[in-house]
Amino acid sequence: MSNDFQFLEVERHDPAKVDVQQRKTQFIEIYTEFQQEQVHQQADRCLDCGNPYCEWKCPVHNYIPNWLELAKQGRIIEAVELSHQTNSLPEVCGRVCPQDRLCEGACTLNDEYGAVTIGNVEKYITDKAISMGWTPDLSKVESRPETVAVIGAGPAGLACADVLARNGIKAVVYDSYQEIGGLLTYGIPAFKLDKGVMQTRRKIFEGMGIEFVLNTHVGTDISFNELATQHQAVFLGMGTYKAMTAGLAGEDAHGIIQALPYLIGNTHEVMGSVDADNPYISLKGKKVVVLGGGDTAMDCVRTAVRQGAERVICAYRRDQANMPGSRREVSNAQEEGVQFNFNQQPVAFEVQDGSVKGVHVVNTEMTEADASGRQGCKAIDGSEHLLEADAVIIAFGFQPSPAPWLESIGVQLDKKGLVIAPNDSDYAYQTSNPKVFAGGDMVRGSDLVVTAIDEGRKAAAAIVDYFDDKK
Ligand code: FAD
Ligand code: SF4
Repeated sequence: MSNDFQFLEVERHDPAKVDVQQRKTQFIEIYTEFQQEQVHQQADRCLDCGNPYCEWKCPVHNYIPNWLELAKQGRIIEAVELSHQTNSLPEVCGRVCPQDRLCEGACTLNDEYGAVTIGNVEKYITDKAISMGWTPDLSKVESRPETVAVIGAGPAGLACADVLARNGIKAVVYDSYQEIGGLLTYGIPAFKLDKGVMQTRRKIFEGMGIEFVLNTHVGTDISFNELATQHQAVFLGMGTYKAMTAGLAGEDAHGIIQALPYLIGNTHEVMGSVDADNPYISLKGKKVVVLGGGDTAMDCVRTAVRQGAERVICAYRRDQANMPGSRREVSNAQEEGVQFNFNQQPVAFEVQDGSVKGVHVVNTEMTEADASGRQGCKAIDGSEHLLEADAVIIAFGFQPSPAPWLESIGVQLDKKGLVIAPNDSDYAYQTSNPKVFAGGDMVRGSDLVVTAIDEGRKAAAAIVDYFDDKK
C-alpha cells in the first residue's frame, strides 16, 4: 500500500554504517545493505513531483521517481532495466556520487524533511538484480559491421562501450591497467567502492560482447594509428593524471607524498597486487597532515586512519561550507577521528635532514564570492604556525595530462591541455579529427564519475549517428 504522507511519518534513513571502531581498521564499504522494507519505506517517501528536480539535477537524468516506484513495488528487474536506460554504472553512482550536491540536494523534501535516499536505492536495485541473476538482454539487438576502439576503461570509456554494445556495435576497450575501472578501481578506495563491484561489472560487459585489451598502453604497446586502421571510430576516455603541486620549497623532502600514487599503492596492497610505479606506503604510527579539501583528500585521510596513523589532520584553506568534497564523506571522516583544520593555508614545509617534520600554515578568512559564486579566502597577518607531521599528503587535484601523440593525429587541445570535443556540435563530443570522439576528465577536467558516464554515453550515441550518416 502506498502512503501519500509517508514523508511525514518516516524520516530519511541511510543504511546502517559498520561500527566506527571496526571500519577504522578495514578497507570495506562502510554502509551495510538496505533491506527491502527500508527501500520500500524510503521509496514511498517520494512525492512523485510533476517536474522532478532530482531528475534534472542528476547529470544523466535518471528516471528517479519511476524506478523508486518500481523498487517500492518490488519490481526489481523492471527497475534495473529502467535504470540502465540512462546510466551505465548505477551501482557505482549509487555508492560514490555526491548526492547531497546532486539528486538528493534537489529533492523537494530535502530542506524540511530530509531527501529520499535516492543513491542508496539506486545501488540496491542493481545489486539486488545482479544477485537475482539479471544481465542485460541484448538478444534483440542487431549486430552492425562497425567496430570502435575505446582508449581508457574508466567510467567514460565503459559508458561509451556500454551504449555502443546496446546498439550492436563491437567496442574494444584498451587500458594500461590490469583491471577495468580507471579511478573507480585504482583511485577510489574500497571503503567507498568495493573492488568486487567492478569485477562483477566486467563480467556483465564481457557478456554483452565488449572486449577488453588490458595491460596495454596506447602510444607504446600499440599505436593510435594501428587502432584507427582496425576500427571505424575511436573514443578517448583517458582521464587527467598530472597532480598539482603545492609549489612550496622542500616539496621533494622524504615524507611528502602525492595523493594518487599513495591511494593507488594502497589499493594494490588491498587487492593483493603490486605496482612498481606506485609502491605501497604505510603511514602506521605517523602524524599525518593532508592538504586539500576534495574527494581525493577525504580518501587520503580515511586511508591513513585505516593504516593506523597516530593522528590525521586535514588542513583546508577555505571553510567547511566551501569544501569541494562530498559533505557525506567529510562527516564520515570526522566520525573516524580525522581532525579538520578549516581556514588554514600551507606556506612552507618544515624539513630537517631531508625529511618533513611539519607544515607551516597561516589562518585565513573568507572573502566575497567571485563571479562563479564561490568565496575566496585571504591570509590573516601574523597567524603563521607549525602543524607537526612526519608525513604530508598533497591532494590539490589534477591538471590535464594529454598524451603526446594527440596533436599529431589532429586532435586539438585547449590552452589548459584539455581535449576540445564540444557537446553541442553536429556529433556530440567529436574532436577535430572526425573519426575521434572524447569524453570524461580529459575533456571537462577532473570532475565526477557520473559526468564521465554522461559524456561517454552521449559520445556513443553520436558515434552511432556518425556511422548512420556515412552509410
Ligand atoms: P579515469 O577514471 O581516469 O580513467 C581513465 C583510464 O584511461 C584509466 O584506466 C587509464 O589507465 C586509461 N588510460 C589513460 N591513458 C591511456 C593510454 N595511453 N593507453 C591505455 N589506457 C590509458 N568522483 C565521484 O563522482 N565520486 C567520488 O567519490 C570520487 N572520488 C574520487 C577519488 C579520487 C582519489 C579521485 C582521483 C577521483 C575521484 N572522483 C570521484 C573523480 C572520478 O573518479 C573521475 O572524475 C572519473 O573517474 C573520470 O573518469 P574518466 O573515465 O574520464 O577517467
Ligand atoms: Fe543521484 Fe548520481 Fe544516481 Fe544521478 S547518478 S540519481 S546524481 S546518485
